[in-house]
Formats: sequence, structure tokens, C-alpha cells
Amino acid sequence: MDLKRTILDLMPDFLVRTFAAPYCAGKGIFSGVAKADEIHSKLGLFSTVDLLAEEVFSREDVEATVQVYLRMVEALKDHPFASISLKPTSLGINESEAYCQENLRRIVAAAAIPGLHITLDMEDRHFTDVTLRMFKAIRNEFDNFGIVLQSRLFRTAEDIKALPTKPCKVRICIGIYKEPAEVALQEKPDMKAKLFDHVQLLLDQGHYPEIATHDEPLIRRCMAHLDEHGVAKDAYEFQMLLGVPRTELQQEIVKRGQTIRLYVPFAEDWKYAVHYLKRRLAANPAMALMVMKNMFGS
Ligand SMILES: Cc1cc2nc3c(=O)[nH]c(=O)nc-3n(C[C@H](O)[C@H](O)[C@H](O)COP(=O)(O)OP(=O)(O)OC[C@H]3O[C@@H](n4cnc5c(N)ncnc54)[C@H](O)[C@@H]3O)c2cc1C
Repeated sequence: MDLKRTILDLMPDFLVRTFAAPYCAGKGIFSGVAKADEIHSKLGLFSTVDLLAEEVFSREDVEATVQVYLRMVEALKDHPFASISLKPTSLGINESEAYCQENLRRIVAAAAIPGLHITLDMEDRHFTDVTLRMFKAIRNEFDNFGIVLQSRLFRTAEDIKALPTKPCKVRICIGIYKEPAEVALQEKPDMKAKLFDHVQLLLDQGHYPEIATHDEPLIRRCMAHLDEHGVAKDAYEFQMLLGVPRTELQQEIVKRGQTIRLYVPFAEDWKYAVHYLKRRLAANPAMALMVMKNMFGS
């Protein structure tokens, strides 16, 4: 049993919210949009804004989530530096693929007119096939739609080769979900080595890799390799999470004239936000200590 996860699972939601505050823009669409504006105007950073909502089950709550996303589309229309990220478990996948796909399609279609890009996040391995199927069906109709792939899964190179031939934006990350040894790498250095290979494979297949990692040596390895091979700086971008302290590196990327985009989540209903916040705290428990220090001033 993972002790970190057990402690987090027992932690009351209000404490999770407090400790995970640096990872979240706040409550309501306005907080997400305001954070996107702030980091762009002050720091030159792009963003992908996400409603924290997972494991949404009732039709009523799924519809409420769709409505929030439709309002986000309106709010971000004239924000070329912002995109939107969303998850199948917030949009009805627990009911059926057809229902979820229709909900996704409504949002992607609404965003297609002003040309706002939407990224379909990838959840655990049980959702990989269905997520890719829904992505491909909608990507056939709309160009403003991208997906996430996880380098820890053995299947990812094949999934890249099976992407639509039309160029896609593909966020490539190691993946946050623990997966068993039958289907996934178990050691982070191996996952990161694979991530590097997948960046090259995505480029070879004509896609636009969104390199999502905070690992500085890996970022530098990608930059050096891509520079050396004459890959244009606008053929790919880097992505990080709001709240992970990487200011200097982010500014270095901005000065290179490259896009660096932060994942900017906000909450509407905290009960649907805690899964994400717990995963972030599990990835870095030191963040909770930092927040406590800030709160109590020691
Ligand atoms: C923009 C973005 C979108 C993502 N979307 C998805 C997705 O759709 N599906 C999915 O499965 N995963 C997603 N992830 C998560 C990702 O797969 C990793 O789990 C996460 O980014 C940490 O991996 P890493 O490559 O940074 O390496 P790590 O080795 O985990 O981190 C490298 C260093 O970064 C710092 N760091 C990392 N995480 C944190 C943290 N939470 N708090 C403080 N410091 C930290 C630490 O200093 C750590 O040593 C996304 C990540 C990003 C950046």
C-alpha cells in the first residue's frame, strides 16, 4: 500500500484544497481566465485552462460541466494565448462512449469558430482506447482538437503511428497514473527516455509535440537535439503545470522565442476537484510543507 496515497486519501477535502492551492487558479471561470491573462501579460506564458472535474456521474452534473466548458469557450474566444483542456470522466464516459463523444463534440464545435484549441487529456489505461477512438472521430471533423499520450505505456509508439494523418497537436508526458508492469514502464528515467523518443516520432509523423515535463535535463536534451536537427522552434512547445516552481527555465524558453504553456486548472465544485489536487500533492508532498510555511510564516 502506498503510504503517501493513504495519508492523502484520509485527508479532509478542505486541507487538500489548502495545501494544493498553488496548483489551482481558484474557484469559477473568472479565476481561470484571470490567471491566463496574468501569466501571459506578466510572464509571456501561454495557458491551457481546465475545469477540475473528474468522476462526474449524473447526467445533470455532466450537463453542468458541458455548460461550464461552453462558457469557457466564450470567455477565451479572444485569448489567442489560451487553449482548453478537458477529461472524458467529466463528460459522461462513465455512462457511454456515444454520450461522452457527443458532449466533447459540442464543445469542440463551439470552439472551432473562433479557432480555440481543445486538448483531450488522457486518464488511466482503462480509458486509453476509448479516448483515442473519440479523439479520432472528432478530429476527422475539426482541426482544433488535440490529445495527450503517456510515454510510460508500452503501446504509445503504436498509438502515435495510428494517429490521424492530418497533423495534430499531441501533448506527450510521462503520465500521472500508476500503471502495472504488464502495460507500462515502472522507472521514471525509462519513461523520460521514451518521452524523448516519442517527441522525435511525433515530429517524424508530422505532428506538433507539446512536451509536458518539469524535468530540466530532459527539457535541455530535447532543446539541444531539436536545435541540432534544425527543427523550427514553432514546430513544438513545452508545457508545465501551474504551481510547479520553474520560473527561470520558463523565462529562458520565452527568450528563445518559444511557446511555454501552463496547465491552469480552476474549480467549480470542490468535490470534483480533489482527485486532481491529491494527485499533484502525491507527486510532490513537499508542496504541502511549503504552503504551511507560507501560512505560518516560519
Ligand atoms: C501541462 C501538463 C499536462 C498534463 N496532462 C496529463 C494528462 O493528460 N494525463 C496524464 O496522465 N498526465 C498528465 N500530466 C502529468 C505528467 O504526466 C507528469 O506526471 C507530471 O508532469 C510530472 O512528471 P515530470 O515529467 O515533470 O517528471 P517528474 O520526475 O515527476 O518531475 C520532475 C521534477 O519536477 C518537479 N515536479 C514535478 N511534479 C511536481 C508537482 N506536482 N509539484 C511540484 N514539483 C513538481 C519536481 O521537482 C520533480 O523532481 C501533465 C503534465 C503537464 C505538465
